[in-house]
Amino acid sequence: MVIELTSRQEKIVHIVKDEGPITGENIAEKLGVTRATLRPDLAILTMSGILDARPRVGYFFSGKSTMQVIGESIKNKKVNEYKSVPILVRDDSTVYDAICTMFLEDVGTLFVVDGQSHLVGVTSRKDLLRSAIGRQELDGIPVSVIMTRMPNIILAFPEESLHDAATKMIRNQIDALPVVKPSEHASGAAKYEIIGRITKTSITRAYVELGNEEL
Ligand code: ADP
Repeated sequence: MVIELTSRQEKIVHIVKDEGPITGENIAEKLGVTRATLRPDLAILTMSGILDARPRVGYFFSGKSTMQVIGESIKNKKVNEYKSVPILVRDDSTVYDAICTMFLEDVGTLFVVDGQSHLVGVTSRKDLLRSAIGRQELDGIPVSVIMTRMPNIILAFPEESLHDAATKMIRNQIDALPVVKPSEHASGAAKYEIIGRITKTSITRAYVELGNEEL
C-alpha cells in the first residue's frame, strides 16, 4: 500500500528521523501546533509502520534497530532524575561516628562536608575498614584523616547523562558519585554543594525500568 503523506506528516517524519526518540509533545512544539492537532497524523504514521512509538521513550523512525533505540533511551536518562538523597558527615566527625552513620543510613559511601556545607571528601566502606584494622581508637580519629579528598573526587552533575555517570564509576572503580552544583559563595578553588548521590543501585534501577518498558 502506498501512502500519500501530507506535508505536515512529511515534516513529522523528518523531525523523528533526525531527533527520535522524541515525544509527541516535543514534535508539537517544533511544529508550533498543539499535541491534539498532531494526534491523527501520529496515528496514521504509527499505524502505517513508518514510525514506532514506545511508552516513556517516544516516537522513533522504524528504520532504526531496537539496539539503537535502547542505546539512545539510556543516554537520554539524566543524573538528576535518578539521584538519591546524599548522606553527609562533617569533616570533624570521628571514624566511629562515620561507621555508625553508614549502618544507620544503610549506605556504602558517605560524603564529607566542611562547616560551609562544601564537599571536602568521600569515605567508603573500605576506608573505614582499613582504619579499623589499624587498631587505632576509632573515636579519636577525625574522618578527614582517612577520607579521599578534593580535588581527587569524581563528581556527577545533574544535567549529565546517567550513562556518563556509570562510565565514571566503572573507569574509576568506585561505587558512588556525589551529584554537585558549584557553590555561589565560593572564591578561589572550585567548591561544590552536594545535591544528591548516584550509586551502582541508581544504575541498576534505570536498567530494571528499561527492561520493564513495553515493547
Ligand atoms: P568500597 O570501599 O565499598 O569498595 P568504593 O569502591 O566506592 O567503595 O571506594 C573505593 C575507594 O575510592 C575508597 O578509597 C573511596 O574513598 C574512594 N572513592 C569512593 N567514591 C569516590 C569518588 N566519587 N571520587 C573519588 N574517590 C572515591
